[in-house]
Amino acid sequence: MKELLHAGLAVLGARFLNKKSPAIVSWSLTDKCDRHCVYCNRWESPQAELNTEEVFSVLNQLSDMKTRIIIFTGGEPFVRQDLKEIINYAHNKGIYTMLHTNAGLLSRRAGDIRNLDKIIFCILGPRKVNDSLRGDGAYDNVLSGIEIARSYGVKVGLLTVLCRQNLDSFEHVLDLSKSFDVRTVFQPLVSHLLNPGNACLVLPAEEQYRKAVHRLISLKMKGDRHINNSLSGLKHLLLWPDPVRVKCPGGFVYCRIDAKGDISYCDRPVGPEGANVLKNGLSRSFSSLVPRFCDSCWCAMRVELGNCIKLDMGCLFNFLEMNLF
Ligand code: SF4
Ligand code: SF4
Repeated sequence: MKELLHAGLAVLGARFLNKKSPAIVSWSLTDKCDRHCVYCNRWESPQAELNTEEVFSVLNQLSDMKTRIIIFTGGEPFVRQDLKEIINYAHNKGIYTMLHTNAGLLSRRAGDIRNLDKIIFCILGPRKVNDSLRGDGAYDNVLSGIEIARSYGVKVGLLTVLCRQNLDSFEHVLDLSKSFDVRTVFQPLVSHLLNPGNACLVLPAEEQYRKAVHRLISLKMKGDRHINNSLSGLKHLLLWPDPVRVKCPGGFVYCRIDAKGDISYCDRPVGPEGANVLKNGLSRSFSSLVPRFCDSCWCAMRVELGNCIKLDMGCLFNFLEMNLF
């Protein structure tokens, strides 16, 4: 909880004192993945990865710059054999560690998550819908992953991307959230993950998408605490895919690091990109990200963080509860 309060203070410090820092970092440790989801092609051309010592060197720099929260992502982070060492190293630096995973390799590596603070599983709907998009066994991997995480005392969150196939059945994930008493973040399928070759198969029709988000807003207004987005975050997502001006948290209190150590605002090629952390150092690389506005942003976490910077009280409350990510 201490780290979360510090991250909240970093947001306020950036807002009122112009003290920019990478308080919250999402770090794609690898582009490789053991699954081949219909809507994603990141695994097709993986870039070079930092080795373990290089990762530790970056973690040292993040710790020196008072990073409070790291969200490890991929590809699939469990593809890296050194994931446990990386989690433990970050944990020993006092950093709140989170991990996005498809859970496919978790049962063989359960002990790796002992020092993790929170684990996020992506699930799209009922077994049939989910596995048609993410591959056979993906749904059951998540269910067993939740049990494993609980047995280690690791907090669990769910993430659901809204796409053509699940607009009629996404509430199944809310039923799961209730049965496990965990919270789910919803967002549209964001472009950085989208395999252009399959876009026409998965992108939702706007009218149906908006109907689904209206339903989420209505449930949230009735007090459904298993929806993790804030009300204002949902109202923003309702506008997809129309252009909406957004305050970007990147270069302000947040940055993304990719597998080879390049810093950026997010996964989307919005430019200008920052420098490489290993070659240029974290401080110089982070300050090369000039705080910016964007014409549209549909990643729920970054939308919520941008709203926190704008002092939206509902989003700040979510953030302090650490239900945001
Ligand atoms: S969406 Fe995630 S689990 Fe699916 S192929 Fe891409 S990186 Fe792997
Ligand atoms: S899409 Fe734009 S606003 Fe959103 S995180 Fe990326 S650069 Fe920032």
